[in-house]
Parts: sequence; structure tokens; C-alpha cells
Amino acid sequence: MWQKSRKKEEGFEFQAEIKKLLNILSHSLYTHKEIFLRELISNASDALTKQRFHSLTNEDYEGKELPLEINIEMDEQNKTLTIIDTGIGMTKDEVVKNVGTIAKSGSLEFITNLSEEAKKDSNVIGQFGVGFYSVFMVADEVRIRTKSYKKGEPAYEWRSDGTGKYFLHQIEKERRGTEIIVHLKEEEKEYTDKTRISSIIRKYSNFVSFPIMVCGEKANQVTALWKEPKKDVTAEQYEEFYKFIANVEEAPLFHLHTSAEAPIQFYSILYCPKVNYESVILKKLEHGIQLYCNKILIQADCKALLPEYMRFIRGVVDSSDIPLNISRETFQDNRVIQKMKNILIKQVLGLLQDIAKNDKEKYEIFWKQFGRILKEGVHFDFENRETIAQLMRFNSSQCKDAGELVSLGEYTERMKPEQKEIYYITAVSRDTIEKSPHLEIFRKKGVEVLYLTDPNDEFLLSGLGEFEKRPIRSADQANLDVLKDADKGIVDTSSEPQNYDADI
Ligand code: ADP
Ligand code: MG
Repeated sequence: MWQKSRKKEEGFEFQAEIKKLLNILSHSLYTHKEIFLRELISNASDALTKQRFHSLTNEDYEGKELPLEINIEMDEQNKTLTIIDTGIGMTKDEVVKNVGTIAKSGSLEFITNLSEEAKKDSNVIGQFGVGFYSVFMVADEVRIRTKSYKKGEPAYEWRSDGTGKYFLHQIEKERRGTEIIVHLKEEEKEYTDKTRISSIIRKYSNFVSFPIMVCGEKANQVTALWKEPKKDVTAEQYEEFYKFIANVEEAPLFHLHTSAEAPIQFYSILYCPKVNYESVILKKLEHGIQLYCNKILIQADCKALLPEYMRFIRGVVDSSDIPLNISRETFQDNRVIQKMKNILIKQVLGLLQDIAKNDKEKYEIFWKQFGRILKEGVHFDFENRETIAQLMRFNSSQCKDAGELVSLGEYTERMKPEQKEIYYITAVSRDTIEKSPHLEIFRKKGVEVLYLTDPNDEFLLSGLGEFEKRPIRSADQANLDVLKDADKGIVDTSSEPQNYDADI
């Protein structure tokens, strides 16, 4: 292969986890091998983002004159694909640390434990960031040539065939940044084709905020979509942008593009996915919103912008009111972030109410995927608990089958005139509830009972206590006397039928 002087080369063993990971990658992972390019470009883009950040806050660094961009070159003859960036680069120690070990603890367990089906689903795998190593799906050798932005650090070359070892040696390299030279396996030669590469970039990396030049031609869009007026953004662009930031291949369920002027100026595009990956991998997902200040990425996974119970929402927020040098620790306490968070919560809840009202089918899809997460808000978000309670859905004795859902609002509208309370029964399934002796009397009297099959529901409803002033009560604690005449239709209308303030 490469004729290189190997003198002064040091050999290293990969961390055991990486060996395992490489083994999985080369055998089962990913039906779409092409995503290796998305991962390499995303790393280049991260390195450029860090560089842009440094150049705003530091005076002294390598390669001040360099444009921040990614160049991609192909060599059909030698079967190589090279990704070159002018990002922060790496020192020797950083190469060993970043590329020789898996930083995110738990990533490997996740992947090893995924079902064969989930392993093939690049949507699932896109959530884990084992990025760099995916290159070994198509490569039989990879070289990383890198020079740090730190003054005086020598450049290094890393190479490995992706089995057990990698090698490092010092090199001459003038330009700051990193070059990844991918030597393609015989059967992966398609990745030296310019049209193929450009189309992969348009598919996965179109919104990378640095120019990606393929053989000298710009291949991506580089617009900050969130700053464009809504009317100028097409449905395809919204969808493409979502796929890009969420690292998935399917369209979102819905999006919300807003700009606010007061009290804080900001732009945002938020998305709700179609699928709740938490229920696929049975674990809480890493989450966060991309936070920008004037198109400069400040944090890729800002958790302080939305509450935990909206952790499935993906998107970007851009505000020029955020100080560039804000540190991760102070996000929570930052006044501007807090204000934005409150506005965003209201916007998301408002949109959900809208959908619930005007597009029931879509809302049901939403609720079945994310209801479990959203309703945590009843417990944690005192200010918005009423709204969240309105958004909750349950199965009930009025439903034809276990799939049908009713809201508390619908329930209260249907309440018998003398019925003062909202009733529920808890059990593992609709079938079990329907066999419950407690249900008998309610059925006889035609009084609706909510069926709580999610173990959290009872806790949330008793925490809520009441809905529109109607106490919420477990069926086995119902005051059956009150229900006595419930089947007789309108009884005793003279006694203030509007007064629902129960005498408890
Ligand atoms: P992740 O990007 O999720 O951290 P990766 O496996 O994709 O995981 O990359 C591992 C690490 O290697 C990165 O976090 C980064 O520190 C380093 N790295 C990879 N590519 C580059 C690059 N082009 N420039 C600088 N550092 C890089
Ligand atoms: Mg990466």
C-alpha cells in the first residue's frame, strides 16, 4: 500500500471496546454504508465549529489566514477518498485519546445490546455517535494526518487497517486541520465517483454550516434555514433540515418555525419526530437543542432550552442575546435561556393543542409515541400542568377498543349532570379492567370510567387532583351514593346544575 518511511513509528493497541465495535461494524451494522461519509463530514464540521469559536475568543493560533471549509478529493486510480478540513486538528495526545478510545461510556453496550433489526437501522445507530469507526465499513486502511491549532505542536499521522492496532508517527504538515485519507476496499470503489459523493452530501450533509467542496465545487447549501422567512422555506427544505439535524432518514411528524422579537430576539425551528426511539432502545435518549448565536453554534445539545418532558423535540434556536462565551454550567441560570425556554414550552404546547383540535389523527400518532414523555410535565411543570392535562389521552369505558383515546375535556363534557367526579380504574390492560368488579356499577349507570393502563397515570392524575374543578377519583373510592340516580338522566336540575364545585 503506501510506501512510507516507518521509522519512529509507534504502534498502539485499540481499547478492547473499540476492537469489539470494529468487529460489529464490519459485520452487521448499517444497511447504508454510505453514512460513513456523513460521520466524517460531521467530525470535520465539529472541528471547524470549534475552530471558529476559538478564533473569536483567542488571539494566538495556527493558520489564521485559512478559510473554514471542507474539501473532498478522490483518486480513482489509488482508490482513495480524502476529507480535508481546516478545523482545530489534534495534537498527538488528542489523537490517542479521541481516536483510540470510546469517550462516551455506554455507547458500546448500547450497540452490542441492540437487536439485529435495530443494528441495521441507521436511524437508531445515528443516535450514538460511534461516527469515526464507521469508515471501516468501506476502508481497508485509513490515515489521519492532523495538525493542531495550538502553536508549536508538531503534526502527526495515524494509520490503521481497523483490526487491532494503529500506528502513529510525526509528519511535516503545514496547514492546520485534519485530513482523513480513506483507502477503499475493492468492492467500495463507487466512493471515488464525484456524482455519487455529491449526492450523498446533499442527502445527509446539506446543511453543514461550512462549504463542502467536492473537487473544487461547492456541494452543500450552507443556509441558516431558521433565519429565512417562513414563506421562503419549502416543505422539502424543512424535511431535509430535520433529517440532517436528527440524523434520521424519515420525515418529522410536524415542525414549528418561529421568530420572536420581544422580550428576547430569537429564531427557532423545532421538530417532533415520527418515532420515539426511547421505546426502541428502552433507554432515555441523549437530547438537546442546537443553540446558535448569530449562526455560530454554541452548543449542539443544549438541554436547558426545553424541559425533560419535551426531550423528544429536536431543532435549532438562534439568539444574538446569548453571550458567546457562556459556559455549559451556567446555561440553567442564564436569564435569557430561561426566558426562551418559557416561550418555547408555550409554543410547543400551543402547537400540540392546535393539532389535537384540528388533526386528531396526527395527534393520536403523536400521543401514542410521545404521550408517555409529555405527561411527565403534569408532575414537573406546575405552570403548564393544566394545558398538559388537556393534552393527555386515555382509553375509557366509552371507547370501542383499546386503541381509541379520549381527553379529560371530552370526558367532562359527557359527564352526567349530577356526576361530580372523574373516575378511573388502573390495571395492566383494558381486558383486565373490563373484568374488574368495580366497573360494574359504573357500567350499569352509564358513567364513563377512564382506563389507566400506563403505571404512571394514576400517580400523575392523583397529583393533578382535579380537572376543570372536577375531582379525579379512583373508581374504588367513588361515593356510590352520588351515582345512584345517574342512569335516570337529568335529575333535580333545579339544584344548580352548573355548580361543579364538589362538596369535598
Ligand atoms: P464523536 O464525533 O461522536 O465524538 P467520533 O467517533 O466521530 O465520535 O470521533 C471521535 C473523536 O475524534 C471526536 O470527538 C474528535 O475529538 C476526534 N476527531 C474526529 N475527526 C476529527 C477531525 N476531523 N478533526 C478533529 N478531531 C476529530
Ligand atoms: Mg462524530
